[in-house]
Amino acid sequence: MTLPTFRYHPDPIANGSVIESGAQCLSCRQQRGYICTAPVYAELELDDAICPWCIADGSAHKKFDATFVDSEAFPDGTPDAAVEWTTSSTK
Ligand SMILES: [Zn+2]
Repeated sequence: MTLPTFRYHPDPIANGSVIESGAQCLSCRQQRGYICTAPVYAELELDDAICPWCIADGSAHKKFDATFVDSEAFPDGTPDAAVEWTTSSTK
């Protein structure tokens, strides 16, 4: 099975965001061989509980209102720069 492609994670296994695991995904209820270890922000505790496919197709987000943020996904300063740009353009 081929892992989905993540825009900000060209190689999620190499940086540890996705690991090989026999854990069952809480979203699709399948054991797919991989689980996502990247920080997950949701009402429920979802760390190490969602497979990369459910993140890639957005189903984990729909089911749990989960947001997947990994600071390593952004080069230093990118989020701040984006915020500043948005703020100043709306004034
Ligand atoms: Zn899943």
